[in-house]
Amino acid sequence: MNIETISGKLGWLPKSTARMIEKRMKKIPKVKKLLDEENAKLMVTLEHSLKPYKDKFERHAALPKSGISHEKILNEIKQMQSLEESRWRDGYVSGGIYHGNQEHIDFLNKVYALQSQTNPLHSDLFPSATKFEAEIVSMVANMMGRGKTTDNAPLAGTVTSGGTESILCAVKVYRDRAREEKGVSHPEMIVATTAHAAFDKAAQYFGIKQVKINVDKHYRVNVEEVKRHINGNTVCIVGSAPTFPHGAFDDIEKLSYLAFKHDIGFHTDCCLGGFIVPFAEKLGYKVPVVDFRLPGVTSMSVDTHKYGYAAKGTSVVLYRTDELRHYQYYASTEWPGGLYNSPTLAGSRPGALSAACWASMLAMGEEGYLKATDSILKTAKQVMAGIREIPELKIMGDPLWIIAVESETLNIYEVLDQMTQRHWNLNGLHKPACFHIALTLRHTQPGVAERFIQDLKYSVAHVKANPGNKSGMAPIYGMASSLPFRGMVSDILKRYLDAVYKV
Ligand SMILES: *Cc1c(COP(=O)(O)O)cnc(C)c1O
Repeated sequence: MNIETISGKLGWLPKSTARMIEKRMKKIPKVKKLLDEENAKLMVTLEHSLKPYKDKFERHAALPKSGISHEKILNEIKQMQSLEESRWRDGYVSGGIYHGNQEHIDFLNKVYALQSQTNPLHSDLFPSATKFEAEIVSMVANMMGRGKTTDNAPLAGTVTSGGTESILCAVKVYRDRAREEKGVSHPEMIVATTAHAAFDKAAQYFGIKQVKINVDKHYRVNVEEVKRHINGNTVCIVGSAPTFPHGAFDDIEKLSYLAFKHDIGFHTDCCLGGFIVPFAEKLGYKVPVVDFRLPGVTSMSVDTHKYGYAAKGTSVVLYRTDELRHYQYYASTEWPGGLYNSPTLAGSRPGALSAACWASMLAMGEEGYLKATDSILKTAKQVMAGIREIPELKIMGDPLWIIAVESETLNIYEVLDQMTQRHWNLNGLHKPACFHIALTLRHTQPGVAERFIQDLKYSVAHVKANPGNKSGMAPIYGMASSLPFRGMVSDILKRYLDAVYKV
């Protein structure tokens, strides 16, 4: 018996029963042995795919005795870079690198080099860093409705290290505010099953109960169900504009109105949409209002390091008021290390990344973002028209530029494997089984959309002619989504990270 047959036999079990059986089964020596063997096999496969440089480059498990020359180090890095670059540069990657033009990259690198020693924690030493961050927040606030709110909200925020940190910060704000102002000691937050994993992470880190709500057939959270789950412990409701998996827009207007009526927080997760949605609106595309113009929206996350075209490592979290932002801050009055405060999770931070983010926003300007958005959305229309010509595939929901596809007749993961064989690096998703492509400026290059459709047609034809291929990722996806023992899947994911950290 192997894991697949076990999962096939027990797939009908309710979740809680499966969890209990899983715990007991793991204690049976025979089962434990079977699992250990399966895990060992998996680790070998993982290490093989995660560490392709094992025999190509010298390994450094400990400090070298004496320092290695700059030239040699740079040379090695250049070799790795050249091995990795072509795939994203030529537009084979979903999301990942959002701009990628050499001139833009060179410019950001110059800015980084000028600012590499700065640290916004030392605001007295580096007023440049604080200028950049204040202006980044202000520019994003202006994109998100400042000056157009019914209550003349000031809008405040901070720069963070990424979407996850922006979300962690906002969730902490709502937990602490509810405790302080309403005495809530068992906080709950209401999120869609499709909300980004960062909310789940925040719930785990900060001890918050997550109430997960299903999505409807358009992959938007079910508003009626959200309404039914609001109670005295609810600290905030979350909506995505759009969601990561299917690029669907939750009904932010209705959701934020519910939050407004109950005097609880509402967070618009605009990590992915922040630098597309405002410009799409200006360009006349049909996009809903998702920002602070809605009176119930009390916070937003907007990723500068995605469609803001900054280098990786920056995002913005915005709040309706300064009072809300205060719940994010940390201040220590008694530490012998001195009076200490910090706005976000980190202490010392890379000022150079904020500088590069600021520079990216200034260099793009409103016209630059409008143009970029227009070409991404036009490419998306072309890609979707191409997908609609393939009868075996179905576009999920009514997306703008994050395009998820499923299939009723083929194993979609086998199609994904075929695309991988043809160099593509797309996102495999599950529950339900599908994959997506997040279109970026890389895909607006001439010929890329055509190549995507052509490869997709080939892949579908191949899977149709040769169904049930047992190699590639398809069997692993299949197993992972059908396994009733989620603890086992979680163990595998953790082992994956162990493999990442193997020298
Ligand atoms: C990317 C993303 C996040 C989290 O972003 P990181 O920058 O990877 O931490 C959160 N929500 C959505 C919708 C996203 O697309």
